Amino acid sequence: MIEEAINRLHRELPSGVSLVAVSKFHHIEKLRKAYFAGQRIFGESRVQELLVKIPEMPADVKWHFIGHLQTNKVRQLVGKVSLIESVDSEKLIDVIDSESRKKDVITNVLMQLHVAKEETKFGFSPDELVAYFEDKKYEKLTHTHICGVMGMASNVDDENRIREDFRMIAATFARIREKNGTSLRGFDMISMGMSGDYKIAIEEGSTLVRIGSSIFGDREY
Ligand SMILES: *Cc1c(COP(=O)(O)O)cnc(C)c1O
Repeated sequence: MIEEAINRLHRELPSGVSLVAVSKFHHIEKLRKAYFAGQRIFGESRVQELLVKIPEMPADVKWHFIGHLQTNKVRQLVGKVSLIESVDSEKLIDVIDSESRKKDVITNVLMQLHVAKEETKFGFSPDELVAYFEDKKYEKLTHTHICGVMGMASNVDDENRIREDFRMIAATFARIREKNGTSLRGFDMISMGMSGDYKIAIEEGSTLVRIGSSIFGDREY
């Protein structure tokens, strides 16, 4: 089942779109099945769970952190993940930068955009994020590389609404790129799309889809 899902997704995803297998709340055996089917990028949303899983998996796994990250946990994460997708505040990116400097590593991150109508979701509004780049605040970062944006669509059935949310994410990404030109090297990732909406996300420009339940089934704990 897991192997089939991975194989199907690897076949189905257009070139230029990578798959994050979202393995949060799943046992390690399931991650291994996905790994042996060829999957290398795994997404986790809790620091403790991730730290337990890292040594249990082969060293060439690329771990993405996709959950809300508290500043007091940044130190444990830096140096262990290939991408933090969920930077949702200036304070957080500043802490990531200072902890990365202390460890002498460069941390790759995505800035999380809040466009969905749910009020509980974390992230920058499109205007806030554009302003962050307009003010060139990223220039003070010495050990953090901003690779792009991440976002979620509203959790609704209305496909038009979902598409609008993804369009807003992609348009914000484009605004940032336009205004900052060559000073933003390597700003080229749009992480959007989950099990229920990744096809729409790809149509709207996603380069990274984060898929959990359609690979692993219902979450286990
Ligand atoms: C859990 C989670 C996913 C995966 O959701 P599925 O619906 O299981 O595919 C994707 N992105 C984020 C940020 C998540 O927390």
